[in-house]
Amino acid sequence: MEIILPKQVGTKEGELLFEKSEDVESFQEGREIVTLLKKSLDYYGGVGLAAPQIGIQKRVFIVDIKETERYGEKYPQLKEIGFVAYINPIISDLSEEKNKGMEGCLSVIYGSLFGAVERSDSLKIEYFDEQGKKHTEEIRNPFHARVIQHEFDHLEGIIFLQRMNREDFSTLLWEEERDIRKQR
Ligand SMILES: [Zn+2]
Repeated sequence: MEIILPKQVGTKEGELLFEKSEDVESFQEGREIVTLLKKSLDYYGGVGLAAPQIGIQKRVFIVDIKETERYGEKYPQLKEIGFVAYINPIISDLSEEKNKGMEGCLSVIYGSLFGAVERSDSLKIEYFDEQGKKHTEEIRNPFHARVIQHEFDHLEGIIFLQRMNREDFSTLLWEEERDIRKQR
């Protein structure tokens, strides 16, 4: 199976990044999308990936948070969350309490552009996993909540740059060496 390079903002094939995605119709369809997402995320690295990023306009995203050492300093409570697939997710109860943190995106200059985004500390999410089991969870870890908000935004056709506050544009940072095409 082919590994899909994430589609890019500013290109024709990245136009889906600004469209709203549709619900998955069957668990088999969900599973197939999860398999493709996992292949790309494992290969290119990162903590999350959403279906529109690989050209599929469906409401599926995955997170894979295991690089505890990289985020440990800012998020000391970060446990090993590991791999989770979210199919047809619904978010509610976004907390009023927010925090600001740097984000990048595999679809924005190949993961090499970073900027500060304010996100809710916690949220509630309902979703189906790749086995078709329904879950309802409170996400209280601010880092996990951040990744979910970023990935869920992809299903709504929103990228992190659109979530930035005007005064935070001065935080934009381009790290050319993080370009995912160079890491492999
Ligand atoms: Zn992204």
